[in-house]
Amino acid sequence: MASLDETERGFGLCASCGHARRIRSGRGSTFLRCGLSDTDPAYRRYPPIPVTLCAGYDPSASQERPEASETGKSFK
Ligand code: SF4
Repeated sequence: MASLDETERGFGLCASCGHARRIRSGRGSTFLRCGLSDTDPAYRRYPPIPVTLCAGYDPSASQERPEASETGKSFK
């Protein structure tokens, strides 16, 4: 796993969860989307961060989806 930058450390558990999808905006902000929300409505698409407790946390989960670009919400 790549080292985390300061922004990603602020994501809490999501920073090392395999369900997390990192999104970089055109303005350089980093967002995090929970991939588990695609299949389980119990999880929020954009969880409030930092996430400190999560039943879905799985550092070994697949991260098969590439990063995407998106504008809008920011966790900064
Ligand atoms: S499952 Fe939990 S820890 Fe993993 S990305 Fe979603 S909200 Fe974050």
